[in-house]
Amino acid sequence: MSTILFHEIVFGPIHSRRLGSSLGMNLLPYDGKLCSFDCIYCECGYNENFRTKTKLPARENVKAALEDKLLQLQKENTSIDVITFAGNGEPTLHPQFAEIIDDTIELRDRYYPNAKISVLSNAMHAGKKAVFDALKKVDNNILKLDSANPDTVRLIDRPNAPSYTIDKQIELFKRFEGNFIMQTMFVRGSHKGKTVDNTTEDEVSAWLEVVKETNPKEVMIYTIDRETPEKNLEKVPLEDLKRIGERVEKSGIKVNIAG
Ligand code: SF4
Repeated sequence: MSTILFHEIVFGPIHSRRLGSSLGMNLLPYDGKLCSFDCIYCECGYNENFRTKTKLPARENVKAALEDKLLQLQKENTSIDVITFAGNGEPTLHPQFAEIIDDTIELRDRYYPNAKISVLSNAMHAGKKAVFDALKKVDNNILKLDSANPDTVRLIDRPNAPSYTIDKQIELFKRFEGNFIMQTMFVRGSHKGKTVDNTTEDEVSAWLEVVKETNPKEVMIYTIDRETPEKNLEKVPLEDLKRIGERVEKSGIKVNIAG
């Protein structure tokens, strides 16, 4: 199976469908994956196939790597739209995530004051005070919710904590008081003999209720783009994504669609 693992702390800039020219930050191991979800569509592959004993990069090394890269890009006159925390797993699992965000804000302000800082997160750890406070500081606090149906989330995203509930996630989202972007992957197919489809009317209407209740400043709707560990998945056609997006827009919330 071909997967994408990032082998550096700072990578790119790469073109992101949703964010533009993006300098990537990987706070996770560079020879494996670390995530509290194990999504069947994850471009990094399944957790069990990419275990690592490598330590996470220390805050000082992350800061030095980012500063080096920003200096190099400045010399080359390369512009960047965004510095994005994503990489090989869930960035908020790094124990120094909050301090690293502070360092990144400092360096961004010094070298690329117009660049935004984005964090792509599965939102599972947003209840930790340090993580919550750090996410509130970034420009694009992008939190995943692929379904309002717990069974669908367990089928598609496979959170590793039995205590994960949608109700708890909704309460967490609300605590950001609109200062977050909801990201939702729409996908169809099957997994271990079960149908996967979070685009049915029941799914979309329940998800839409959560969107309205939590009131994000934007919703990012997307579908699979690269090879996925579960082979029986297919892209959702752009027209279907647009139809879902129109329903979000009707409730007055901005939508970004990447088909
Ligand atoms: S949350 Fe992201 S990194 Fe984690 S398994 Fe899902 S797609 Fe992969």
